[in-house]
Amino acid sequence: MRTPSPAQLLQVWERGGDASAATHGLLLLGSCDERSAAALAALPLGRRDALLLELRERLFGEAIDVVVACPQCAAAVEATFRCDDLRLAPSQPDDPAPWLEHAAHGLRVRFRLPDSSDLLALEGCADADAARGLVLERCVIETRPDDGTEVPTELPPAFQATLAQAMATADPQADLQLAFRCPDCGHAWQPLFDIARFLWQELHAWALHMLRDVDTLAQAYHWTEADILALSPRRRQAYLELCAP
Ligand SMILES: [Zn+2]
Repeated sequence: MRTPSPAQLLQVWERGGDASAATHGLLLLGSCDERSAAALAALPLGRRDALLLELRERLFGEAIDVVVACPQCAAAVEATFRCDDLRLAPSQPDDPAPWLEHAAHGLRVRFRLPDSSDLLALEGCADADAARGLVLERCVIETRPDDGTEVPTELPPAFQATLAQAMATADPQADLQLAFRCPDCGHAWQPLFDIARFLWQELHAWALHMLRDVDTLAQAYHWTEADILALSPRRRQAYLELCAP
């Protein structure tokens, strides 16, 4: 993994605009990983998220502060996690098996794990049921009934539920839950943590802050944006302090 420069990060932020979280995740990956766009889009989501956690640590350090509203009493609850706490031991190798097997309810399927290309395809889905149906349609490679009868045109709902569970179990990093307890009312819950969304929000705040600093230094010293972005953070900070009113 390479650490993107401030100029490269600003380019990623600019290209991302109002795109979806799936697109943001791919742009972030592309800034730090040499692989082709197609190869990155085909990484299982847990693998993608492990890379994004590593990128996050390189860019903004290892402590992650999260503030969420308690679902019971709406109090703001804060917690700090370390990137390491959120990084599970990889259940899939870097080069994962092209397919896995799941058997239940008299059916046996070969499937692959959902990836970013699936997330992009889901963007047109009207609701969660349609999205789940489309993920299964895209990720199931082959279906075989145990008794050799004809392959069903649609997977039965009970089977779909166990298959969705099998996919989540096979790629736990993609389904990361935080543990929260509200100090006001004692309510405990486990919200999902989406590193792609979280890191993009951080990048957005960083970009606005950086552009403000560029503006300040350009006005004071008449340097170009490229020159200012190429300064080390320490030197940039020292100049900012010198020209502070
Ligand atoms: Zn509460």
